[in-house]
Parts: sequence; structure tokens; C-alpha cells
Amino acid sequence: MPMNTGFTARYRVPRGKDGSGRVHASPRRRLPTVVIGAGPYGLATAAWLSAAGTERRVFGEPMECWSANMPDGMFLKSVPAASSVSAPEAGYRLEDFRTARGRGPVGDRYPVPVEEMIAYGRWFQERRVPELERRRVRSVGRTDGLFGVTLDSGEEFLAGRVVMATGLVPFAHEPPELTGLLPAELVSHTSRHHDLGRFSGQRIAVLGAGQSALESAALLHEAGAFPTVIARARSVAFGSPPDTDRPSDRPRPVRVLKPGSPLGPGWSLLACARGGGVIRHLPQDVRLRMLRGVLGPSGGWWLRERVEDRVPVLCGRRVRSAMAEDGGVCLEIEAVGDGRRTETLRADHLLLATGYQVDVDRLTLLTPELRREVETFHGAPRLSSGFESSVPGLFFTGLAAAPTFGPVLRFVAGTGFAARRLAGAVAAGSRERP
Ligand SMILES: Cc1cc2nc3c(=O)[nH]c(=O)nc-3n(C[C@H](O)[C@H](O)[C@H](O)COP(=O)(O)OP(=O)(O)OC[C@H]3O[C@@H](n4cnc5c(N)ncnc54)[C@H](O)[C@@H]3O)c2cc1C
Repeated sequence: MPMNTGFTARYRVPRGKDGSGRVHASPRRRLPTVVIGAGPYGLATAAWLSAAGTERRVFGEPMECWSANMPDGMFLKSVPAASSVSAPEAGYRLEDFRTARGRGPVGDRYPVPVEEMIAYGRWFQERRVPELERRRVRSVGRTDGLFGVTLDSGEEFLAGRVVMATGLVPFAHEPPELTGLLPAELVSHTSRHHDLGRFSGQRIAVLGAGQSALESAALLHEAGAFPTVIARARSVAFGSPPDTDRPSDRPRPVRVLKPGSPLGPGWSLLACARGGGVIRHLPQDVRLRMLRGVLGPSGGWWLRERVEDRVPVLCGRRVRSAMAEDGGVCLEIEAVGDGRRTETLRADHLLLATGYQVDVDRLTLLTPELRREVETFHGAPRLSSGFESSVPGLFFTGLAAAPTFGPVLRFVAGTGFAARRLAGAVAAGSRERP
């Protein structure tokens, strides 16, 4: 049952034609659609909603996750051609931003610095989403089938639809078996750090084998810290440098065997990049396996020389236990598959590069009642082909939609697919079961 939070007592809910309080499609249409989030997915959604003529309010700090929750000095793993925020019109791609700034064109061999991506996202927002309100949404509840939205400023209003584009940070995965053993100042997730230079001179145990672990280790080393990477994998992998700047310049047989895609070369990656609509119809276990397996942990090609022979990497190991000792951490590490082989690692801090796990329950800006109404699988929301959840009018995009539509939703390259579909579903007012 939808909750009446008391919100409607203060705000007049538009009535249906029969004068009842029941919500018909038209009141929902007359109220704004609220987009929460101003990262690549929120901005793209807002751009597509505006092109469809949908009345909207958009909230968030532009590119906040990129400027506050990613390390300074980082480079994007995705190539420039796969790093554009989608808009329905031409003129808003990363290359357009570079041209506007008097910078030349770049190809696949150019790693995009995070600072350039942040500046591009803000440029996109100023030009394409000027209506953005740089305020935080404090809570969203459901009231008579509509949404009661409360801002940090205390402003309250009703929304017909809500798009959750709040990104990765709420889903940061911190293994509880480790965090439970250590005081908060000795262990942290990578998403909590923008300036890794604060660890200069310290010994840092970095847990993980993906881009985040390897790039954090490189940046820590370069900042004068002493990182050690602990990886479950038997070896850490790095990508291969692209042979050419444009995939179309590669010899034809190579292109046929490994066609280019926004996720990288290869038929399976091309299928993932283009086939989100089909992926949604696969059994959920297959989709979840795909999410874990496709683009498994590896570092960008330019990281190899910054990590190999510079940073100790303990492969095939897992942390069995951790304890605080002399102001630092003492980790007991065991070989994967052979718990008898153990070693001890002492460090000043444990940095968790343990990724992100979608869990609707972590989205605490939705009231507990509303969260309970969202049907989930393994913590992820069930979504219709238009990104709508089991709660009519509540949409999820970005990482939260990846368990439904596949790995492309983990990347900026998925913004076109997501925003086009979502804005289309909002404009059509269609109601399809997720
Ligand atoms: C270290 C790292 C490296 C990455 N490298 C790449 C890469 O090379 N290429 C790539 O394509 N992807 C990369 N990604 C993934 C990329 O970050 C995501 O695909 C992308 O940021 C998702 O965009 P988003 O809009 O969903 O979320 P985010 O970028 O996380 O934005 C979330 C937005 O929500 C807003 N928000 C949150 N809560 C509220 C609230 N209560 N009220 C108002 N606003 C709120 C924030 O202000 C922010 O604007 C990387 C991720 C990480 C962690």
C-alpha cells in the first residue's frame, strides 16, 4: 500500500477527473519529473527529457562523484570516443568540448585525464542542462501515488515521477568481515578519497585487482607512499595499447575478428554495448554473471609501466583477518585455495578497492516505506524496458540499472541508450510491468 506520509495534507494533490484523490495519469503528467543526480546519467536524462518537452526539475552537483570520489591525477580507462555524455542534438560530445577549448582532436591512444572529464561534464551541464538546481534532495516518499520530495533547504514539493541518477557512491562495497574488525580511521573505500597524497610516507595495503586498485597503487607510489596490492586473482592484467587512434584504421581482418565497440574491441563487448534491450530478457543469473565476468578486473594499458616493478603485488591471496596494532593494521593473508599458507602484512591503512554492489536498501534518500515497495533481485531494482521500477513513476538509471541492462550501464557510454529509453517512457506515460 502506498504510504500517505502526511505530505498531501500540506500540499494539494491534483485530483483525477472524478474529483477523487486517486491518481490518474494526468496529475502525474502535470507535475514535474524530478531527476536526482548531475553526473553523466542525470545530465543525459535531463537533456533527453527536455528534448521531449517534459517538465522537470534536476538536482545535484555537476560531476560531483568525479571531482570528490575519484583520485586526483586519475585517467579514464574508457577511450575519448566512449566518454561522451549523450544529448539528442549534435554538438555536445567530448570532442566538441575540446574544439570549443581550442584543443585538437584525440583518438583511442589518448587517456583522458579526470580533470578534463570534469570540465567537459560541467561545460555540458551549463549548455544543455542550465535548469540544474545545485541542491541536494534530502528525501523522497510516496504519497497518494505521487512523490513527496524534500530538499536539504527544507523546500517540499510534489513530483509526478522521480529518476534516481544518484550514481555509484551509495553502492561502495566495503567487505563487512574486514571493516567490522578495524576502527574507521584505519580502513576506507577508494571512493572516499580525492587526494591520495594524504598517505605520503605511509604503508598502504590496497585490496583489489581492478583499475581502481592498480591506479590507486600507482598514484600512491607516485605520491611517496608505499602501497602493496593484495589480489585474489592469480595475476593482475593490463589492457593492450590500441594499435591505432581510430578503430577504422585497423586492418580489415583485425576489424572483422575484433570489431571496435565503446567497451573495447571484440564481438562479446560489442554485443554488451549494443544489446542492452536484449540482455534484459536473459535469465537474471546470466545477467549477473555477465556483469561480473565481462570486462573482469584489469588495469588500463598505460598503468602497466607505473605499477610493474614499482609496486609489490601479492596475487592469489585473500585477507583472512585484520586487527588494529600499534596505530596501524595487521593483516593475516592466506593463499587462495590453500588456507595453510599464510603470511602477515603490516600497514598504516587498508584501502578497499573492492568495487560497487547495487543495493536499493542503500539509497536512504528514499523513505524506508518506498524502498520496501521497490521489487528487487539480489538487491537491484527490477526495471521495465523504460527503466521504470515496480513503483509506478520511480525510475533508476546508471549503475542501478546495470543488473538489468548489462555492463554498458556501468560506463558513460551507456548514457545514450538509457536516457533515450527513459525519456521516451516518461513522454509516452506507458506503464509496463518491470
Ligand atoms: C575510479 C573510477 C573510474 C572510472 N572510470 C571510468 C571511465 O574511464 N569511463 C567510464 O565510462 N566510466 C568510468 N567510471 C564509471 C563512472 O563513474 C560512471 O559510469 C558514471 O559516473 C555514472 O554516472 P552517474 O550519473 O550514474 O553517477 P555519478 O557520476 O556518480 O553522479 C551522481 C550524481 O548524483 C548526485 N547526487 C547523489 N545524491 C544526491 C542527492 N541526495 N541529491 C542530489 N544529488 C545527488 C551527485 O551530486 C552526482 O551529481 C569510473 C568509476 C570510478 C569509481
